Amino acid sequence: MKDTRHTEQSLRRRAVMLHAFVAAVFVAGAASAACVALATTDRALLGPSTSTALVLVGLLIMGEVRTLKWLKLHDGGEVTTSWAFAFSLLILPAPVLAVAAIALASTTGDVVHRKRLSRIVFNAGQTALSLSAAAAVLLIFGQLDTIGSGSDLSVLWFVAIAAAGSTTFLVNGLATCIVLALHEGTRISTMLRRGLLLNFKSDGALIALAPIFVVVANRSILLLPLVVAVALFVHVNMRAALASEHEANHDVLTELLNRRAFTARLDSEFADSNRVERCGLVLIDLDDFKEINDRLGHHLGDVVLTEVADRLRDLQEPGQVIARLGGDEFAVLCTKVDRVSELMAWAERLRASLSQPLVQCGFPVASSASVGVAVWPDHGHDHDSLLQAADLAMYAAKKTGNAVQMYKESGVGGATGRIDLLSELERGIARNELELWYQPQIDAVTGEPVAFEALLRWRHPRLGVVMPNDFVPLAEHTELIVPLTEYVLDRALIEAGVWQQRHPLVRVAVNVSARNLQDRAFPKAIAAALSRRDFAGSLLELEITENAVMSNPQKVAAVLEVIEQLGVKLSIDDFGTGYSSLASLRDLPVESVKIDRSFVMDLVDHDGDHTIVSAIVDLAHSLGLTTVAEGVESVDAQNRLTQMGCDLLQGYLVAKPMPLREALVWLDRATPNLMRTSIDVAFRSLDKVVRP
Ligand code: C2E
Ligand code: MG
Ligand code: MG
Repeated sequence: MKDTRHTEQSLRRRAVMLHAFVAAVFVAGAASAACVALATTDRALLGPSTSTALVLVGLLIMGEVRTLKWLKLHDGGEVTTSWAFAFSLLILPAPVLAVAAIALASTTGDVVHRKRLSRIVFNAGQTALSLSAAAAVLLIFGQLDTIGSGSDLSVLWFVAIAAAGSTTFLVNGLATCIVLALHEGTRISTMLRRGLLLNFKSDGALIALAPIFVVVANRSILLLPLVVAVALFVHVNMRAALASEHEANHDVLTELLNRRAFTARLDSEFADSNRVERCGLVLIDLDDFKEINDRLGHHLGDVVLTEVADRLRDLQEPGQVIARLGGDEFAVLCTKVDRVSELMAWAERLRASLSQPLVQCGFPVASSASVGVAVWPDHGHDHDSLLQAADLAMYAAKKTGNAVQMYKESGVGGATGRIDLLSELERGIARNELELWYQPQIDAVTGEPVAFEALLRWRHPRLGVVMPNDFVPLAEHTELIVPLTEYVLDRALIEAGVWQQRHPLVRVAVNVSARNLQDRAFPKAIAAALSRRDFAGSLLELEITENAVMSNPQKVAAVLEVIEQLGVKLSIDDFGTGYSSLASLRDLPVESVKIDRSFVMDLVDHDGDHTIVSAIVDLAHSLGLTTVAEGVESVDAQNRLTQMGCDLLQGYLVAKPMPLREALVWLDRATPNLMRTSIDVAFRSLDKVVRP
């Protein structure tokens, strides 16, 4: 309650300041125009040539009215040709007409574009003020009539015209930046840094053309269309350059900033060493968006994302910057956080808005979002660490079902335990604390070992053995999954090399994550590991979950095809738990499906599971795929699976996952007729590679 009152008070204070500033600019514009009129009473209102003056006024007004909407720069600035024509009028010289015409043109343009009254008033005032300031500079230098009267040009003229142009540009930029800073609630210095360059790029070049217009028009008004054509050419090119800059920084679907522009924006906010206000970063991830996409189609998925962007815009407050970071992930930067409780209340309002069903498509689509919040500089000093903190908070929100979560650095529960674990994981990899345990897969008919699945275990110095489900999903949420998978892959190849000295055909299966499959560099990493360890691709199998494939089928398919060319086998893990169908996997270069253990474990007691497993086996075979049953725990289950024709079995009945040395002993026992030479000899070769 207290917070809400505080917010309202500060918003009201800012609104009052904004209106006062707009009024001051307007009064200053009118007063300066009057001063110009008084100082130039000896000149004709329309300058020396009425026709030229009228043509220039016409061009000026046309330029303002025709400002294209899509050319809006992200701070609300626009590109017009007005300054070039207004400046020409000024040095014609028709200074009073120039000031009046630019104010009139700006007002006409704003009315046509239905801008708010305060904006119309501000624009009229600031254009009049900027041009009057230029007139004053030229008058002081005594160079107002030089070019129009055809007198000789001197160095002084160049100095005067440059000073006048710069003055216009500075007054205009300064007024715009102050009004935007008041409107957004950001610091004026930050605004100036971003805004001035933009203004210079758009207006500076055109102002430089003004003297040429006047010289040409004085020669003959008939030549004017030629220079106007040149001006339009410059203008159009500038617009194209700005449009492509816009495209590079925005997401095509939602028109929000993209990740690149957003992180650049974060950097620019944090670069201000005098900054005292805190910033808030709110990260939003839609729940079950993949399901919407898969079940209702990508078109509807796009509609949902657009609607989410609109709802974010509706709730946007001054000083907030919205972006779509990719997929179903959105972010909001709040540049001025007075109180963290206000930020959390806003995030809660946002979550509530996003959990209203979307009715864009004629029928309601249920939606919900998980929201993570982090604060600069408390939770991170740069964009990387702040995004990671917000990401972890968001992940905690998803896990706990507590939809808005603030990043917690210490304490119990929430994101905390996981964050510590994640920060330790990198060190764990470097210190060799991660090891692979192996679980065999056997041929259902002959009982022969066919492969070992490599399963991660983390021998944590404080927590003991940490299971993969406690840290792999966490790593999957960050870039750390890339080095983690590369570590597992390399280690699995080295260790498989040890058992293959005596059991050359027993493959190794490695689990890979969704993120790896979206990474076009992943196949290269596999190829490098295979060649580094001199390992045949056909003896390596990669297990991918069906949801990993369905998250981005086209991109994943492209990556899988390259992997297949290395001879590496691919299998679908935990089949039956995701949203795909066997038919949708048909076009992928996959060789086998691993039926999820949840179906296999209850096979004997539940007829339903029996029917499902049997149907999967039949359908997989008809598509030419091999079947592997996971979680085989009983002889009954083994018998039924064998009867169904399931090809391979994996589960506690066969063996639990075991460290490499035990796996080697198991393998030797399972194939007694093979030569059994010393395991120690094999291990010595491993020691050489792992601990050089
Ligand atoms: P998964 O790939 O489905 O691995 C099989 C899991 O089922 C293993 O759990 C294994 O111990 C367990 N299991 C095998 N047979 C039985 C059985 O008869 N009964 C029961 N109740 N469980 C059985 P684990 O080792 O805890 O691994 C869990 C998951 O962690 C794996 O599921 C895999 O998705 C993931 N994972 C493990 N290692 C890695 C890795 O190196 N990289 C990635 N990305 N994920 C990994
Ligand atoms: Mg697996
Ligand atoms: Mg599995």
